[in-house]
Amino acid sequence: MKTYKIALLSGDGIGPEIATEAKKVLDVIQAQDKAQFECTEALFGGNAYLQTGKSFPRETIEACDAADAIIKGPIGLSKEESDKIPVDEQPERGALLPMRRRYDTFANYRPVYLPKSLAHFSPLKTEVVGDGIDLLMIRELVGGLYFGHKERGIDEQGQRFARETLEYDEGQISRILHVAFGEATKRKGILHNVHKSNVLLSSVLWNEVLEEVATEYPDIEVKHIIVDAAATALCLDPRQFDVMVMENMMGDILSDLGGGILGSLGLMPSACVGPEKAYYEPSHGSAPDIAGRGIANPYAMIGSVAMMLETSFGMVGEARAIWSALAGVFAAGFATADLGGEGATVLDTASFGDKVVERLVG
Ligand code: NAD
Repeated sequence: MKTYKIALLSGDGIGPEIATEAKKVLDVIQAQDKAQFECTEALFGGNAYLQTGKSFPRETIEACDAADAIIKGPIGLSKEESDKIPVDEQPERGALLPMRRRYDTFANYRPVYLPKSLAHFSPLKTEVVGDGIDLLMIRELVGGLYFGHKERGIDEQGQRFARETLEYDEGQISRILHVAFGEATKRKGILHNVHKSNVLLSSVLWNEVLEEVATEYPDIEVKHIIVDAAATALCLDPRQFDVMVMENMMGDILSDLGGGILGSLGLMPSACVGPEKAYYEPSHGSAPDIAGRGIANPYAMIGSVAMMLETSFGMVGEARAIWSALAGVFAAGFATADLGGEGATVLDTASFGDKVVERLVG
């Protein structure tokens, strides 16, 4: 039996609550003698800063370096709490972006998935999503505006200014496009390229590189769509999309829209994959508005575990079993508070995790 080292960073807000449920699921897989998981829990994010003075402390870096894969809960404090932390140590700038940079996790897989049996959770019309939603957003994760040069200062007129640059080189664009074409090859053979080349030079370069990369995938039909139009189209009829590829900030925003059309951000797991290491996290934030109440939806966190098992450890069957257990709990008439749903029995975070475990064991 194989042993895998996992760094478990539960994060802030609802993070520890949903990470507990993810751990329950890992424990079940382990108890079934499918693999051994050596989990090292470590601080990451706002609470890490409050306890150690660093939001990505040295011990956490070491645990992540040593791990075969990382499971990360959401990070971030309320605006009031965050404002008490020096800007450079605030959770995203001090922990999340450095982790993405350290492991070069350029490929962010964000499935926007709702099986037919759960289509009622979507706020979209039944005639549009009655058969469910199934698309995959591929977001470039270590370039663009979030990682470009940043400065603040006072200009010649004495006004405060901030400047950040949106930079991509052709290598960064090409490698994420290869990932997207690869996924389109495995799925329906259609790739939507999301861009803003009518305004942004970076998108002009992106599209040029895409034309070159596309020659290696003659069977893939490429469709171009401007990012603002893509936002509308996703709301009106997500069925027109299968695989979508986009740069970092566009993906950040459109994938939250993905959570919206599913019915909750709590349904959005993700994988952030680099050449040598990957980490797995729900796409959502730390939800300070509901933290500590035991009502967060752990689906995205548990789904991120399934993505880790499949992508990092090749445990495809176990991953499928988790997806099936997650969907099965909802299909049996249960829901979490964020989803509601007519006639559904609303479960708290821990009870939802227990139901998933029951299905995995049974
Ligand atoms: P958020 O995603 O935390 O919450 C938005 C809304 O969705 C809230 O109403 C919240 O209650 C709800 N929600 C999110 N996840 C849920 C879940 N699993 N179950 C039930 N409801 C859920 O976004 P926000 O409020 O803008 O940000 C809160 C904090 O999270 C901020 O500090 C932000 O910087 C941080 N953040 C972190 C990440 C990350 O760790 N990758 C991502 C996004 C935001």
